[in-house]
Amino acid sequence: MLKKSDIAAGMAIVVATIASAPAYAAGEVNIYSYRQEYLIRPLLDTFEKQTGIKTNVIFADKGLVERMKAEGSNSPADVLLTVDIGRLEGAVDAGVSQPVKSQVLEKQIPEQFRGADNQWFALTKRLRVVFASKERVAQDSITYEELAEPKWKGKICIRSGQHVYNVALFASMLAHHGEEKTKKWLTGLKNNLARKPSGNDRNQVKGVYAGECDLAIGNTYYMGAMQTNKKNPEQQQWADSVKILFPNTEGRGTHANVSGVVMAKHAPHRENAKKLMEFLASDGAQRLYAEANHEYPVNPDVSWSDLVKSWGTFETDSIALDKIAGLRKRASELVDEVAFNSGPSQ
Ligand code: FE
Repeated sequence: MLKKSDIAAGMAIVVATIASAPAYAAGEVNIYSYRQEYLIRPLLDTFEKQTGIKTNVIFADKGLVERMKAEGSNSPADVLLTVDIGRLEGAVDAGVSQPVKSQVLEKQIPEQFRGADNQWFALTKRLRVVFASKERVAQDSITYEELAEPKWKGKICIRSGQHVYNVALFASMLAHHGEEKTKKWLTGLKNNLARKPSGNDRNQVKGVYAGECDLAIGNTYYMGAMQTNKKNPEQQQWADSVKILFPNTEGRGTHANVSGVVMAKHAPHRENAKKLMEFLASDGAQRLYAEANHEYPVNPDVSWSDLVKSWGTFETDSIALDKIAGLRKRASELVDEVAFNSGPSQ
């Protein structure tokens, strides 16, 4: 039995603990992030203010999933923030995620933008679009399919076919058209390239600006990144030379990729991690998160930034992203089979 003096001593310890860490009374949450600090810092500050939960962040541009795997059950990570369906599924495949049951997340995030078994949740989307020369391209709509037509011969610029963004796009073609048609299409696209695939998405738009190609394939947010680039104002001219065409918007919709979040398998602060995920999925946070990188909120009821609105409206391909994820491996093999990265051969 406890004596009164023991209870008093126990209470003294509790009081001392609370008194020594008043700001962290609600605990903390540890974030591993592939997303850059400036994108998420304003959100985390708001989260801390609202909940009293302290956020600790490790930023890196690679190796975080490997790190979580190596840390195993001792990993301090509670959540992982990342981009691209390939990387979200990669975390699941590596066994560093866990499913999250949350009515808030299910209400805020449409089903197509959640992983199987709720192993990941998308927060923002980016569309893989065509940047077309304002000067040399008259048409104001386009399809992915027509990029393989002979009329675009020598006119298209694109980064490596093995880049995660392109692999997801090609996987979406596999999902819609099957293997045979997709391989033919990929061969046609390759033979329409103006040059060997190289550089990043912005370099392709630069190619249009420089007159090397008429169409560039890229993600929407790079338009914003170029339009608002004060450090490299020449990029504003690249952006100025093109208009965005949202492919297939009159049909099945434009291919969307995402940024998202997973809860770590061994999250030591599971409840706080869930609170953070629900906060990030809330209307206000989704809007701010999307706006910071010129992306689109995944919840269709959340408004877009004015700059993003200025690019026009579109339909989003409604295929489930985990279906696309399942076809990524085959899409990547096809890239090699048609020797996509060696450029046009005819
Ligand atoms: Fe990117």
